[in-house]
Amino acid sequence: MVFRGRLHDRPVLLSVKDTSVSLAVGDDWIGAWDVGGRLYSLWKGGHTYRRGLNGRILHKWREDGRGVRDPYDARQRVHVEGEGANALVQEAADVLRGALVAVTGDPSTWLDAAGRRLDAAVLASFERCARFDAAAAREDARRFARVFSPVGILPPDQYLSIVLQATEGCSFGTCTFCALYHERYRVKSTDEFLRHAEAVRDFLGDSVRLRGRSVFLGAANALAVPMPRILEFFEVIAAVFDAPGRPVHAFVDGFTGARKTAVDYAALREKGLRRVYVGLESGHDPLLAFVRKPAARDQAVEAVRAIKAGGVSVGVIVMIGLGGERFAAGHVRDTIAAVNDMRLGPDDLLFFSDLVEVPGTAYPQRAADEDVRPLALDARLAQFAAVRAGLVFEGRPPHLARYDVREFVY
Ligand code: SF4
Repeated sequence: MVFRGRLHDRPVLLSVKDTSVSLAVGDDWIGAWDVGGRLYSLWKGGHTYRRGLNGRILHKWREDGRGVRDPYDARQRVHVEGEGANALVQEAADVLRGALVAVTGDPSTWLDAAGRRLDAAVLASFERCARFDAAAAREDARRFARVFSPVGILPPDQYLSIVLQATEGCSFGTCTFCALYHERYRVKSTDEFLRHAEAVRDFLGDSVRLRGRSVFLGAANALAVPMPRILEFFEVIAAVFDAPGRPVHAFVDGFTGARKTAVDYAALREKGLRRVYVGLESGHDPLLAFVRKPAARDQAVEAVRAIKAGGVSVGVIVMIGLGGERFAAGHVRDTIAAVNDMRLGPDDLLFFSDLVEVPGTAYPQRAADEDVRPLALDARLAQFAAVRAGLVFEGRPPHLARYDVREFVY
């Protein structure tokens, strides 16, 4: 439903969906809230702000991109935290409050296409969002931090999933380019996981209607957990979040993924597992050794085949630019061969993720020490094109997509 009115002589749209509500003022301001009342998106004057449940906001805007062949490189990003983020939430709440004052002052001028006024239920939905101001956002972020450990990363199609943290940290923590997890690796007991899942459910409340299209079983490598415990975790998910009605997804690294069999994956599919994301990064073993990735190429291929044989789809992640100029030829050749050996199909995803050199990780220093020069933009684009050109799929191909870790918000 969309209701039209005016605010300070500017046209205004109030939109209501099952999962979210939004307010558009003129042609340069749009705020959107989930139906739990949390602001999740603000757009003003060409600047986009995406608020995560953790209270951080990703601010994105585009500089003049003329002459830039890779659109990702023309995009500027910065994370806004704390009071900077809360000030944006307050601004959105203030604009929405102003609109609601105008609506209640003269309801007859706020009508949908059929000439209907906003009813009490719709108004209550907007009023709930208008209460989500800086103070509420501050408290909400504190509550998030009591319920969740830091959420390191998610696949790009999982930003609106329910994250449930069965484990903390990464069972390896060796990859030189990775700065995602800082906690010691730990598997929760079934009781602790149940309490966590219930706390997540209570924290999300009605926000689950937007942010609950699937369950993501975290963290880095939850499927490393032995089968008896992981089956108990799936029972918890079913009890608390109505899975398998709601699909369950998770990461696994190639090394651990290959230690479970197709029979194991089929058993997990029965419980709701629908997709497993595998960070292949490269099919070139010398490069995998250089970055201290736990799995060799064959193990990653074996893991993907076992997952697929169990009836679960995969999301495979290939890293563009990893290993710079020195490893480029082997990276392209062996990655093509590895992905082709995985026999991906239309239910699978293949992501291309640009290497982001994170200061403080071992990769930049090791690369400098060993004269591994980074690929320039042209070379990265050429590498991406070369890998794509070499891929051969029997039948319909998997869905191919970019995976930019800088876009991550939860
Ligand atoms: S296995 Fe994944 S999460 Fe763990 S260190 Fe390597 S890239 Fe990071």
